[in-house]
This record gives sequence, structure tokens and C-alpha cells, in this order.
Amino acid sequence: MSTQPPLVAILSGAGISTDSGIPDYRGPNGLWRRDPEAEKLVTYEFYMGDPDIRRRSWQMRRKNRTLAAQPNDAHRAVAELEKAGVPVRVITQNVDGLHQLAGMPDRKVLELHGTARKFVCTQCHARGPMEDALARVEAGEDDPACLVCGGILKSATVMFGERLDPVVLGEAVAITKNCQVFFAVGSSLQVQPAAGLAGLAADNGARLVIVNAEATPYDDQAAELVREPIGTALPRLLGELVP
Ligand code: ZN
Repeated sequence: MSTQPPLVAILSGAGISTDSGIPDYRGPNGLWRRDPEAEKLVTYEFYMGDPDIRRRSWQMRRKNRTLAAQPNDAHRAVAELEKAGVPVRVITQNVDGLHQLAGMPDRKVLELHGTARKFVCTQCHARGPMEDALARVEAGEDDPACLVCGGILKSATVMFGERLDPVVLGEAVAITKNCQVFFAVGSSLQVQPAAGLAGLAADNGARLVIVNAEATPYDDQAAELVREPIGTALPRLLGELVP
């Protein structure tokens, strides 16, 4: 008789990337929410309606160090678990792409809020590497237009005022319902619908483990609460699951 290793789902939030030098931008207490002018730069309505907002957004992206950040021990621990043969799926609220840089296959990472590593055309939906768009900004185009259709380009992240991709969200829900263990890591679990996945996992019989410095609204449903730093806690917890 063979036993299937349990499906492990990992929901990651800003806290998993702080050791990589990336601050919390979009959380309830994140940098953008505390600065109304900065929040405009990442709000769809303002971005589409105001060329000046777009010019400032491109300058912000140019200076943003997210693309230069490197994965840390927590990202590596997730990728190592997957390499050890355990079925792992990552559902992330982050746009930094660090799970994939650590070695997680792209198809096993669901990016609920998109990715800062690509640009997308708001008209024809053409996509490309963010470096290509930033190179045009460096070369003097302050609001580079789509090379295919002339439309407005933006980062391939979900801005405030935009819907989450229903396909990505649907896959996240399916994984959440089917997993045996659900880790919520570095997320305040206050932003829906991502936060609700923690409750959904517990309701469907998964063992919910919350790894976060602060209390979350789902602590009551957790089988285990871990308050220690993610960079040491996650490698230890996931190491215990390696067969
Ligand atoms: Zn286009």
C-alpha cells in the first residue's frame, strides 16, 4: 500500500519578503495605504486618467528595488520541500516573484496580485519583461506606450480598483479545498479574498498553520500559531514535512 504525500498549500504575504529587503507596500498598514499620493500611483482609475500619474508611476518603478531583491531562507525552504517530492502549491499576495527565483516552478505559484516583473498593455493585454519597459523609460520615454497597439502600459500587478484574475482565484480556492496542510505565512490575513482562504482551508479539514508576528482574524481556527521570525520558523516547519 502506498500513501500519497499530503498536498501542502502555502499562502504567503508581505512578511515572507521583508528579509529580502522588500517593505510591505499594499497591506492595510502598508506604505501605499499610509501615503494618499503614493496610493494614487497604484490606483487604476487615477493611472488610466492622468498622464502625470503614469509618468510618476514609471519613475517609482524605475527606483523600486523589488526587481533586484533576492530570495531568502523562507522562499528557499518552500522550493526545497517541492524538490523533495512533496506536492506544494504557493498562493502568494506578493508581486516580487521571489518564490520562482528560489526554484519553485512557475506553474505551482499562483500570484493573486500579479507580478511586478512584467508589464501588460491595458488595451491588447500584450505582456513583456518589466526590464524592457524600464529600459525605454531610462532612454527617455516617460510614459512608454504599447509597441503592438499604442495602448497604455502598466505593471502586471493588480492595482487598487482592479479585480483579481478570476482564473487565478478559482485555482487558489480549489487548492485550498484540496490541501491537507495550509500554511499562512507573513500575511495579516486582513485583505479579502486572500485572507478568507485560511478559513476555507480549515473549514475543509486542512491543518491550518499560521506563521505571523502579529495576531490575525483566523488565529482561532489555526491548529498551530507560530510567532517566531519567518526566516527561521518556516525552514524548521517545512523541514519536518520532508519525507
Ligand atoms: Zn497593446
